[in-house]
Amino acid sequence: MSEGPRPDLLSLEPADLRSALDAHFSERGQPGYRTKQVEKALYERLAGSFEEVTTLPEGERKALAEAFRIDEPVARTIQRSEDGTVKHLWRLADGELVESVLIPTDRRLTLCISSQAGCAMGCTFCATGWGGFDRQLSAGEIVGQYRGARRWAEQHDYGAISNIVYMGMGEPFSNRKAVMPSLTILNVGYGVGARRITVSTVGVVPGIRELAARPEQFRLALSLHAPNTELRRELVPLEKRHPIPELMDALADFDDGGGKRITFEYTMIDGLNDAAELIDPLADLALRARAFVNLIPFNPIPYRSWRPSAPERIEGFRSALEARGVSVAVRETRGRDIDAACGQLRGHTLVQLSGTRRVAARTAPA
Ligand code: SAH
Ligand code: SF4
Repeated sequence: MSEGPRPDLLSLEPADLRSALDAHFSERGQPGYRTKQVEKALYERLAGSFEEVTTLPEGERKALAEAFRIDEPVARTIQRSEDGTVKHLWRLADGELVESVLIPTDRRLTLCISSQAGCAMGCTFCATGWGGFDRQLSAGEIVGQYRGARRWAEQHDYGAISNIVYMGMGEPFSNRKAVMPSLTILNVGYGVGARRITVSTVGVVPGIRELAARPEQFRLALSLHAPNTELRRELVPLEKRHPIPELMDALADFDDGGGKRITFEYTMIDGLNDAAELIDPLADLALRARAFVNLIPFNPIPYRSWRPSAPERIEGFRSALEARGVSVAVRETRGRDIDAACGQLRGHTLVQLSGTRRVAARTAPA
């Protein structure tokens, strides 16, 4: 047995994985190609245990298992929506639960993954926010959702995952220590193109700047939801720390990083952020950041009586923004019947598993 905790192979960036394996096999007097065999097993065949690295002799599999771990999340429940959307509830090694969602559309299969168990940001319209924060995920636990969902998709005729969005539970830039390596692992290890990966943030400026500084063309989504500070503060508590003018400065950096794409997410809530006079300021911000605007009908959550804006109102926003020269789309709501839509993820069964812990963590307002 090696000293100290065994490193989780799924959490290592490809370059670190290679040097760790090279050192391990050379110490054992094994040929150099053993490393390649393990890399292939992990990245191409999605081996989830050392027994599955069948190209290695039995003794080497054992030795590997004594030196390293493979911490694969295990699917606890899998729910399939009427519209084909599939939600996995993953149990992590310590019993923590997180969710990922597969969303099939005409030409794409998008996977939405979680970056934290829970979320500390407390956005008032988001079920994950109401549940509070449990813990950070490791890079391997983030990547593990992709591996598990990809395997499931391959086995159930869903085809290949074409896009990954960090839009599940959690605020990715509050977990940069794991999220940044997870981007490298997905991109370099598993070969997912950077332009097919989108990180969604509620506006953690240091994270936006860090992503902007990276050479790869990862995409950024900013959850804006309101075009002025007064209104945004009511929906997104982080606005007090990083207000819109500061966000816009950070986005300018992002774009300077070489034609990277930015999207504004705008969840439309009836009577709250859908007044016609908000259209022009929203258009101004979008044009300034050269951002694509995604209008998302609010998905009802248990803690609020709010409703989505009427379809005509959403269409009114869309056409008025378009008339101002903004690229805009209305995001079709998917997976609502299984609570897999935006903002509805909250590790549901946790409530059943541990009594009232999660729901009682905060009391819904009267
Ligand atoms: N924490 C990150 C990513 C996860 S949230 C972020 O906030 O960007 C993913 C998206 O779902 C965000 O755009 C978020 O604003 C949106 N969302 C949250 N609750 C929602 C709800 N009830 N209805 C519709 N969209 C919601
Ligand atoms: Fe967290 Fe995003 Fe939900 Fe806000 S919208 S509480 S940042 S997951």
